[in-house]
Amino acid sequence: MLMTFASLSIMAILSIVGFFIHHDYIDDKKQATRSASNIVQLVDRNISEVMRLYDDVLNGMIKTWQSAPLNSLPEDIQHQLLFSRAQDAPSDDGFFILNAHGVVVADSRTAIASPADLSDQAYFTAHRHGSRDALFISPPFKTGPDVDDWNIAFSRRISAPDGTFLGVGVAQMRLEYFYELFQSLELSPDDTINLMSSDGTLITQYPVTIRPLFGTYVGCLPGIQRLFDETEGSFIATSHIYGVERLYSFSRVRNLPLVVVVALSTDSIFEGWRMTTWVVGSFAALLCLSLIWMTWMLNREMRLRQHVETELEGLATTDPLTTLANRRTLDARLAQEWRRAQRAGRCISLIMMDIDHFKAFNDTYGHQAGDDVIRKVAQQIKSQVRRPSDLAARYGGEEFAVLLVDTDTRGARQIAEGIPKAVEGMAPITDGGASVTISLGTYTRQVRAGDTLQELVRKADAALYEAKHSGRNRVVSVSEQQHEQNVA
Ligand code: GH3
Ligand code: MG
Ligand code: MG
Repeated sequence: MLMTFASLSIMAILSIVGFFIHHDYIDDKKQATRSASNIVQLVDRNISEVMRLYDDVLNGMIKTWQSAPLNSLPEDIQHQLLFSRAQDAPSDDGFFILNAHGVVVADSRTAIASPADLSDQAYFTAHRHGSRDALFISPPFKTGPDVDDWNIAFSRRISAPDGTFLGVGVAQMRLEYFYELFQSLELSPDDTINLMSSDGTLITQYPVTIRPLFGTYVGCLPGIQRLFDETEGSFIATSHIYGVERLYSFSRVRNLPLVVVVALSTDSIFEGWRMTTWVVGSFAALLCLSLIWMTWMLNREMRLRQHVETELEGLATTDPLTTLANRRTLDARLAQEWRRAQRAGRCISLIMMDIDHFKAFNDTYGHQAGDDVIRKVAQQIKSQVRRPSDLAARYGGEEFAVLLVDTDTRGARQIAEGIPKAVEGMAPITDGGASVTISLGTYTRQVRAGDTLQELVRKADAALYEAKHSGRNRVVSVSEQQHEQNVA
């Protein structure tokens, strides 16, 4: 019961602690997801605004380029009209117009455009071969050796009213714009913000790592496909590039083939939670260990007590010299069996025994040898009493008694006669070959209402007295009807 109680208590402690720790974890995760999602929304809004601005400037530029009167104006006026809004676009690295062959025919950065051939650029090929008039966002590309030289291009197809390809309007933007935007957000050192195109190309990442992965196709990385299949969401995964576990929150930028991904390091998200878990977990473990220890101690104490009690009980009921039942036990059993026999109307027999001339033996060989005799005679008596319901006891001094339950005169006599024979058959007790004999008196009674136990003891004692007086070393049996005497 003690162990069950301890186990249940430990289970209860662990369940409660486990529940709160889990609850705390879910709470921290929810909070982090909410803040990551807020950052994503902020970045999303900012990017879609800047894109719209770029697209407006680009559309205005193309519209002006296609207006008939433009060609009639001087070149500097043409330049001014074409790129009048270019300054509105932040971090721009130039607006261009390419003709149908991919040659630059107008450049916002210079009044007289150098006729560079950009027909090999991805955006040019995409527009020439495609008929759609959608905004094209190029993969990032470098225009110089530094990190700041990374650019991205937005472009639209210039088409004749009949759909013929006339060229491409291009706007170049420095990715530095995004770094500045991302920098203004409060992030931990292990967190990242990523901008990707929906075809799986990484456009930019903040903070910029030692090996910038801009322009790299990352769509093949396990788990990343979710970013492109769903509009928004969040999940925890381990980065295959950096080997860091992060909480990813992502969203598709409105109407654009772009995905913003904010990745917060789970180490910093769950730092507080880990600390709490460690403290609470250690405390709970300590509590459980103390409980186990206390239960063990209590259990040990109880077993020890039980052992002592059993030992004390043994001492209280057993005669220490012979290990037979003592007088107290005999009296209790006699009273109990007497009542039982009285209720059932059954026989009960009592054998009383006394070692012959024991005083003389003691005087001759000493008390030590006398004790030895008492012990050995007790063993012989014990060997003759085999039924578990019978009881052999030391009555006092060199006197013994045997209680035989549900046993008639014949049965009692049979057992009694075995005892002097067994005592006689004992090995010599002293070096000189001294031996002892024993006298016995038995009394059997069919117990009826009104009979007294004292009568049983008195009659058995009287039988023993008779055995002594008729020569010792014999059994005298007395029953209610007859009074027989037999020499063993
Ligand atoms: P009887 O044949 O008539 O019984 O003669 P007896 O000498 O045995 O007579 P009695 O019953 O008067 O003597 C009992 C003696 O037993 C007295 C005592 O010296 C001895 N005795 C009693 N208890 C012990 C005991 O525990 N150890 C030893 N060694 N002797 C005991
Ligand atoms: Mg005696
Ligand atoms: Mg005696």
